[in-house]
Amino acid sequence: MRTFLQRLRQRSEQRAIERRAIPETVWQLTLARYPFLSRRDAADMAELRRLSSLFLDSKEFSGAHGLQVGDHMAVAIAAQACLPVLRLGLRPYDGFVGIVVHPDEVQVKREFVDDDGIVHEFDDVLAGEAMEGGPVMLSWRDVSESGESAQWGYNVVVHEFAHVLDMGDGLADGIPPLPSAAERTRWQQVLMREYETFCARIDAEEDTTLDPYGAESPEEFFAVASEAFFVAAQDMRAEHPALYELLAGYYRQDPAGQP
Ligand SMILES: [Zn+2]
Repeated sequence: MRTFLQRLRQRSEQRAIERRAIPETVWQLTLARYPFLSRRDAADMAELRRLSSLFLDSKEFSGAHGLQVGDHMAVAIAAQACLPVLRLGLRPYDGFVGIVVHPDEVQVKREFVDDDGIVHEFDDVLAGEAMEGGPVMLSWRDVSESGESAQWGYNVVVHEFAHVLDMGDGLADGIPPLPSAAERTRWQQVLMREYETFCARIDAEEDTTLDPYGAESPEEFFAVASEAFFVAAQDMRAEHPALYELLAGYYRQDPAGQP
């Protein structure tokens, strides 16, 4: 039996979905431009569209440097952001509201202090950024090219939203909130073993399915592995079967097993 609160929530969700219904032409265009979204059965596709409407209703998009975030752009971002949480629901994204879309990559000045206390400044180029409490920043050029860049396992939206999931427990450490201490220990073991092997392969200048940027840290490795898991699933599974299984358990999806 459903409680009054559940019925209330369902009704408010239904209203949000109607308010932010995605027109059929926009949805079909989105699936055509980002084919990795549509390698799902009909029930999953309906759920992706439902979650995307709820996402559009609960987030605020803004364009930087005069960029107008049109409907097709917001839907492209919403659908890619909802793919990782298809079975988890939108609650892990409740901690932020804003999504800032830049026309292209963003140049930022960074500094770090070395062991001798000397401050080093350097320029960094970002295709996206996620921080606790938001907003999430994305480069539209990278988002719009993600249909083609899927073949290299690259997807900026999945990357940044994997960081959001990771930070769900307040820590960016490559370990998202998990139901038990045992699962956390297992996660840490598998992730670190895979990470160390991956770093050795990058040092040896081997070609890898995962973006070499993943060697930066365990949290970047989790984000990069999540990208490939969703957009180049079969290659990712072939190269990292244990990591694939770990992510499949967490996301409750098996994208490599889809036709
Ligand atoms: Zn990252």
